[in-house]
Amino acid sequence: MSKKYKNSLVWFRRDLRDYDHAALSHALQESEHVFCIFIFDKEILNALKSKEDRRVEFIWESIKELKESLIRNKSDLIVLHDKAFEAMSYAIDQFKIEAIFTNRDYEPAAITRDEQIKKLASSKNIAFHDFKDQVVFEKNEILTALEKPYTVFTPYKNNYLKKLSQMTMPRFDIDPWIKNLAQFKSQPLLTLKDMGFQATNLHDIKIHTGMSGGKLLVDDFKERIALYKKTRDFPAIKGVSYLSVHLRFGTVSIRQLFRLAQESFNEGAETWLNELIWREFYFQILFHRPDVAIGKAFKKEYESIAFENNPDYFKAWTEGKTGYPIVDAAIRQLNQTGFMHNRLRMIAASFLVKDLLVDWRWGEAYFAERLIDFDLSANNGGWQWAASTGCDAQPWFRIFNPITQSTRFDPQGKFIKKYIPELKNCTDEEVHAPWLSQKAEQFNYPNPIVEHASQRIKALALYKSVKN
Ligand SMILES: Cc1cc2nc3c(=O)[nH]c(=O)nc-3n(C[C@H](O)[C@H](O)[C@H](O)COP(=O)(O)OP(=O)(O)OC[C@H]3O[C@@H](n4cnc5c(N)ncnc54)[C@H](O)[C@@H]3O)c2cc1C
Repeated sequence: MSKKYKNSLVWFRRDLRDYDHAALSHALQESEHVFCIFIFDKEILNALKSKEDRRVEFIWESIKELKESLIRNKSDLIVLHDKAFEAMSYAIDQFKIEAIFTNRDYEPAAITRDEQIKKLASSKNIAFHDFKDQVVFEKNEILTALEKPYTVFTPYKNNYLKKLSQMTMPRFDIDPWIKNLAQFKSQPLLTLKDMGFQATNLHDIKIHTGMSGGKLLVDDFKERIALYKKTRDFPAIKGVSYLSVHLRFGTVSIRQLFRLAQESFNEGAETWLNELIWREFYFQILFHRPDVAIGKAFKKEYESIAFENNPDYFKAWTEGKTGYPIVDAAIRQLNQTGFMHNRLRMIAASFLVKDLLVDWRWGEAYFAERLIDFDLSANNGGWQWAASTGCDAQPWFRIFNPITQSTRFDPQGKFIKKYIPELKNCTDEEVHAPWLSQKAEQFNYPNPIVEHASQRIKALALYKSVKN
């Protein structure tokens, strides 16, 4: 049967897999020859501060695996290092492309980029098809009865679950049409060095990349999902899935994860499904309120809080030297591994904003630089939640006590001691507030840079001043 297009191009971005892939599946069904491309976008890479960036290495490793998989099918992944516009112009002409297929991205910069590529396609008289792939529900698919976007999670979730129960999760097959991949001689993959980047400690810290890495984590989590609700808040326990980086780069399929959650009938799976829905809640917030991506508070009244922004406090926080062990261990985990446990993200963020009185945007930017799973929507949502400026956020007057949080969620200080070996000889009591110990001087660990109780009062006053 003749196909709609002779040559098509599938543009991979944050969907680095070749199974259950909406754009690839559609392209293969509608085209005689499907070429696949990934662009290391100079506009994104040049903006990165460090040339040792775990995300670039994660992508590179994942691309390598995807390329090898396509080569096994006598095709290849074309990998270019250029601006997206230039790279796409080149590929369209070089491979005589008639249609571009890609999966939608909801970040403002990506939307602008895609608009430019759409225009380019139209100027060359070729088709541009984009698909929903990284979420189950997008854009306006979950709205209130008044057809407005939700700003509170629970009603959003209830409507979401109702719609979920009424749908069949789509599956975007590849194998039946795999022979439609364009067959051509493969090219060697450019190196990290070619792009001016260096390898990081990704292998040493055992971050498994690509589709195979995603599968390893999914298989491991399947065995633990029933315990998720009970264990997810304790950073010293392997309780969470650690799948965020794979969700970020699409080395797992979101539909596969939803199936896993829906088919595991236990309270752990139910709670985990809730977290996957939070992810989409923040996606739709960013889609409807793109101004949050340029530093605007979701709730306008909090726009004018006069944070003290003491640079020394901020520096101590970024170095894990505030004198509060749970906060410092959290930041050291981030600095050493690019990951931070969710409970710790909440504690560290709250501490920066409501104890150190530093603008949440500073913390948001620091996380954006360091997190391997950095995602604009979840990161912004998380920071605005902690700072009480966001939709459905922590109320402004609720301020985490870092010592209570530490005692509750790391009772024996196991996590703290892993990242702060200076405190390895502390008792279970001492480890949460070592300055109170008579042995404090022996620990070689900083005294607290601020006192929680007095900072709390200042924070309340600061927030109250903009409420009136
Ligand atoms: C200040 C702050 C910043 C954050 N920044 C990011 C970020 O840049 N990227 C990111 O993916 N998550 C972010 N989160 C959310 C959350 O901390 C991480 O998704 C989670 O820790 C990742 O670990 P996991 O994959 O083991 O999660 P699991 O507990 O196994 O959850 C499964 C998945 O659900 C999603 N999820 C879980 N919690 C949340 C949440 N609160 N908001 C949105 N999605 C969620 C993630 O995709 C996660 O991989 C942030 C949270 C806070 C408080």
